[in-house]
Amino acid sequence: MKTGFINVQTENIFPIIKKFLYSDHEIFLRELISNAVDATQKMKTLVSLGQADVELGDLTVEVKVGKDAKTLHIIDKGIGMSAEEVDKYINQIAFSSAEEFLEKYKGSDSANIIGHFGLGFYSSFMVASKVDIITKSYLKEAPAVKWSCDGSPSFSMEEVEKQERGTEIILHVADDAEEFLEDARILGLLKKYCKFLPVPIQFGTEKQYDKKEGEEKEVEIEVPRIINNTNPLWKQSPTSLTEQNYDDFYRELYPMSFEKPIFNIHLNVDYPFNLTGVLYFPKVKNQVEIQKNKVQLYSNQVFITDQLEGVIPEFMMLLHGVIDSPDIPLNVSRSYLQSDGNVKKISSHITKKVADKLEELFKNNREDFESKWDDLKVFIQYGCLTDEKFYERAQSFFLLKNTENQYFTFDEYAKKIEVLQKNKNDDLIYLYAADAHAQSLYINNAKERGYDVLLMDGFLDVHFINLLENKFEKSRFTRVDGDIIDKLIEKEDAMPSKLSEEEVGKLKAAYEEYIDKTSFTVQVENLSEQDLPVMITQNEFMRRFQDIEKMSGQKQMFGGFENYNLIVNANHPLAQTILSTEDADRKKEITEQLIDLALLSQNLLKGDKLTNFLKRSVTLINE
Ligand code: ADP
Repeated sequence: MKTGFINVQTENIFPIIKKFLYSDHEIFLRELISNAVDATQKMKTLVSLGQADVELGDLTVEVKVGKDAKTLHIIDKGIGMSAEEVDKYINQIAFSSAEEFLEKYKGSDSANIIGHFGLGFYSSFMVASKVDIITKSYLKEAPAVKWSCDGSPSFSMEEVEKQERGTEIILHVADDAEEFLEDARILGLLKKYCKFLPVPIQFGTEKQYDKKEGEEKEVEIEVPRIINNTNPLWKQSPTSLTEQNYDDFYRELYPMSFEKPIFNIHLNVDYPFNLTGVLYFPKVKNQVEIQKNKVQLYSNQVFITDQLEGVIPEFMMLLHGVIDSPDIPLNVSRSYLQSDGNVKKISSHITKKVADKLEELFKNNREDFESKWDDLKVFIQYGCLTDEKFYERAQSFFLLKNTENQYFTFDEYAKKIEVLQKNKNDDLIYLYAADAHAQSLYINNAKERGYDVLLMDGFLDVHFINLLENKFEKSRFTRVDGDIIDKLIEKEDAMPSKLSEEEVGKLKAAYEEYIDKTSFTVQVENLSEQDLPVMITQNEFMRRFQDIEKMSGQKQMFGGFENYNLIVNANHPLAQTILSTEDADRKKEITEQLIDLALLSQNLLKGDKLTNFLKRSVTLINE
């Protein structure tokens, strides 16, 4: 037997390992299984290159719990190690100074960085009081060896009997880590980190029902439980996959979601770095349903993390799916990931790919793209609002939808508005509705006057309008019930007034008597006879402020401050009625009723006022 000291320049590396990995003990299993899988892949490669003359056989990696002995075993049939290799790879720890290591990563958050220093294997000492390696190289002449270490810098190594090629790692689980002897805990970890590893991973057995030939009944049999899908969809060629395959894989990733995703983007990049993956646009009906931390990051099919804040563009965190890149370092903390140059490049590349794919879909099948737009819109808007580059790219496929359910690109819509408003205004007016039902009165009003109305009823539209205003030259965006509609009317329709100046004054006074003048400005306008006698509009600027305040849940600066216009139609027959009614009660009744109708149409009639209105309406019907 040989004994020796692990070659580190400090007394003992184990306290350092424990200290740095304290919050993330569980990753030891990922490290050990990754090593087992790597060794297996190497074996396969050597055989396929004709460089090793061995029978591959069953390559399944097995994980086993020894309940009584309190051991955890990871067994592979990979290339194994000779005594020299154990010496080189395990004993000569690949970092020059533990102090340097300490210095460099002082203060990092979850210091999941140890693999950077070739210390993956040593992470086993976070949970084990003693570790054995029993390994046999695929090289026939190299005898099997057993290496043992109890966490001090001294180890022992001896030749042992082991015929089969490969490595068995035995962890003697420490007293404070006994959770890792529980089947459920191990299974949970395997499902988390190893679900898509390229080599089968077995843990325990499971029941299966089988019918043997010639027998009537199904029999229950125990079969090895394989916990992973070795050929996950994102590794396959997109041309060989159907929509159903993508939907099925979505279900595999998110067993709890019932909705199908809207569509997916299969990423497959070789240059300038290697990146594969599939991103899904999930179906979301409202803000609450949007969940971050659904995209999973893998490195060579090993799960790394789903905490991708700052690693991928923010809007992509709203998507679902998988990103896999061996160029993303495996064992790193999030803060490290965020500052890694490679990761930044990858991130901006994904943005580009996603935008390209959206553009391609739009160009190849516009009809289909339009049919999905309403569901896609929120993601694309979020992308535009948070990522300038993405917004630039989205110019070609972002769609505006009008109240007639027609879709336009930015360019198409700009042209449409120019044609429609050729002879109307200097500034082009872009009208939009935030609620097609509640604002239908105003929508119809605008349409009758030859205007088009956009439908902006998404919850990000309030923010998006600012972007659009900058985008469209000489434009003004105003909600259909905004205070611009009367200006449109003035300029364009230029109705002759049926009232004298004196009568206009009287009419205005009649309304002012019954409306709250702190919140409403009465304005008499020459609309057409067919228009309503009274309408309410709201200052666009104020309203946007209030909307944003409401959304962000801030203390409302403008909230309490109502600012409406009561537009009175001078040309409506009821204007004459009010002016000519002598009976004061009757006059009050008509005016109040008209005001209330206008309030009602804007959903502003509440409480006692609503009760009064209902009572008055009943009285009026009875008269
Ligand atoms: P890393 O995997 O980052 O190189 P590790 O400390 O985990 O660092 O492993 C060090 C080396 O030990 C590996 O590169 C590999 O050569 C060898 N090794 C570890 N586990 C195995 C295994 N199961 N089979 C064969 N070789 C292994």
